[in-house]
Amino acid sequence: MAFEGLSERLQNTIQRMRGKGKISEADVKEMMREVRLALLEADVNFKVVKNFVKTVGERAIGQDVMSSLTPGQQVVKIVNEELTDLMGGEESKLTMSTQPPTVLMMVGLQGAGKTTTTGKLASLLRKKYNKKPLLVAADVYRPAAIQQLETLGKQLDMPVFSMGDQVSPVEIAKKAIEHAKAEHLDYVLIDTAGRLHVDEALMTELVEVKEIAKPDDILLVVDAMTGQDAVNVAQNFNETLELTGVVLTKLDGDTRGGAALSIRSVTGKPIKFVGMGEKLDALEPFHPDRMASRILGMGDVMSLIEKAQANVDEEKAMELANKMKDNSMTFDDFLEQLQQVKQMGPLDDLLKMIPGMNKMKGVENMSIDDKQMAHIEAIIKSMTTKERTDPTLLNASRRRRIATGSGRPVQEVNKLVKQFDEMKKMMKQMSGMGGKKGKKNPLA
Ligand code: GDP
Repeated sequence: MAFEGLSERLQNTIQRMRGKGKISEADVKEMMREVRLALLEADVNFKVVKNFVKTVGERAIGQDVMSSLTPGQQVVKIVNEELTDLMGGEESKLTMSTQPPTVLMMVGLQGAGKTTTTGKLASLLRKKYNKKPLLVAADVYRPAAIQQLETLGKQLDMPVFSMGDQVSPVEIAKKAIEHAKAEHLDYVLIDTAGRLHVDEALMTELVEVKEIAKPDDILLVVDAMTGQDAVNVAQNFNETLELTGVVLTKLDGDTRGGAALSIRSVTGKPIKFVGMGEKLDALEPFHPDRMASRILGMGDVMSLIEKAQANVDEEKAMELANKMKDNSMTFDDFLEQLQQVKQMGPLDDLLKMIPGMNKMKGVENMSIDDKQMAHIEAIIKSMTTKERTDPTLLNASRRRRIATGSGRPVQEVNKLVKQFDEMKKMMKQMSGMGGKKGKKNPLA
């Protein structure tokens, strides 16, 4: 999970302040020392750290905090606000052209994830806004980049414009936009050429593409895991190209978070999206406020709800809610439910979005990996239809048969039946508590 170290250190520091009825200047200074170390350890740019600590410190020592009834909590609030501000304050959305197609120019160094992100972004535009994008293969230097984009296009069932690798990117961009106009497509996403390092030839070419394509957004794709290097790359690209935003990839593997916290402040350009995995749906709009809350362990309920809405079939959820109420949930429903939750991403990441959850013991071990999922599935599939609906039938000999059928130890079968039973009991209690009739959406 991103920001792991920073998150833990800040939360420990904050924990000590939170409950205090009175805080002194010395307390604030001590806290700021720890915040400073935490940020530096997370590889945040040192100037950014200096400013951040100064601002938070000054605000925390301010009159209204010291004299408030809950000064500790006020300080936490200030840290949260300043972290949000550091990352740009509000979500920064894409620009939309009044005259379609809107043109997005994707730039970045090789390996940053530019081509993948181009596909992910197109997919997001179609899924969320119902737009028709065109993918443009203008990376004529990296071997196989064109082919990679074409494969992505096939996977996404989306048109790809390419003219091979013997035509100049400027020409490709020009023709692609003409093509999109003729076909009434809404977005043109140009996957430009990357290089291993920032060099002049690359920049000159990108400037030429920019002049012809007149993009509404120029998005730089950088790899979060490269920390301050990503920030330097962003600064370099911004100087020549005037970026409109940044996409930070591989945040899923970045335990420090230095790039995410420094880029906006150093370059003045907002992070618009973050890549959270290799899959094509693993791209999320960047919300500074939610990210700040997550770092401080205050949860991110908004993202959780959005994830649920995007992944859970509402009709099925209703059906299940009813089954919970009348206690008729079967093993098949159970399996389906697990699969839906799994689609939303790693379970431990989801749990961290619930306020307070990260402090609960054992949460870090609560992930269901693909292997466990396959085992559960094998066990349930080895039950007869009757057994799946009525687990009371599952006596010792049936359980042994299921164990043999699924190739899993009988203890595992017992454990699953027990879990299922407990879940049913819990749901019965919960639906008893809710009790409101005619409630429409169980997710709301
Ligand atoms: P390009 O050279 O910049 O076009 O890079 P690619 O799009 O080929 O991506 C390089 C590698 O990074 C590929 O293996 C991608 O699957 C991987 N990648 C891209 N974005 C992400 C991300 O957000 N998370 C993770 N874990 N991997 C990513």
